[in-house]
Amino acid sequence: MKTPDTCPQCGAPLKPIEETNTGRKLQRCSKGSWNPDTKKVEGCPYVKWLQAEPQTLDENCPKCGAPLELRVTRFGKKMKKCTKGGWDKEARKPTGCDYIEWITGKTEELNEDCPTCGAKLVLYTTAKGKKMKKCSTSGWDREARQATGCTYVEWLNDSRSPSSASDQPPPPTDQDQRV
Ligand SMILES: [Zn+2]
Ligand SMILES: [Zn+2]
Ligand SMILES: [Zn+2]
Repeated sequence: MKTPDTCPQCGAPLKPIEETNTGRKLQRCSKGSWNPDTKKVEGCPYVKWLQAEPQTLDENCPKCGAPLELRVTRFGKKMKKCTKGGWDKEARKPTGCDYIEWITGKTEELNEDCPTCGAKLVLYTTAKGKKMKKCSTSGWDREARQATGCTYVEWLNDSRSPSSASDQPPPPTDQDQRV
């Protein structure tokens, strides 16, 4: 048994691990609590974010040949990052190899027609591995921050995990690609 973690600010034990709706894990100090009336944390404000373990991939960095690892950012986005890359906390700058590849899902052409407009459908796999069919004319207007073209979307249910309504990912957008 591990001894429970204690708060580095006040020494009180931390609360059990909570998960945010973006899938990140955190632990709050047991002396702190969220007051929905004042919209402030009362007591100790310490929050410990738990880093997901990086997962080494069976792929090599195109820049230096070192293995790549899969990282999940604070916002639940995934990226492949070179294991030779690091972060110098003192100098506040990256060290070593700076190769990063964001994982943003992939699109495959389908030989099916859109029931709404008759254009071809594409199969879109999100970064989280969910699949959906969508119309090839659909797009995303970055300026207006809204969907363009045909809005036909059909999510393919994954039989392995019964889908819960709260687990529905947002429609893929190009805005995730902005780093
Ligand atoms: Zn505390
Ligand atoms: Zn590299
Ligand atoms: Zn369509």
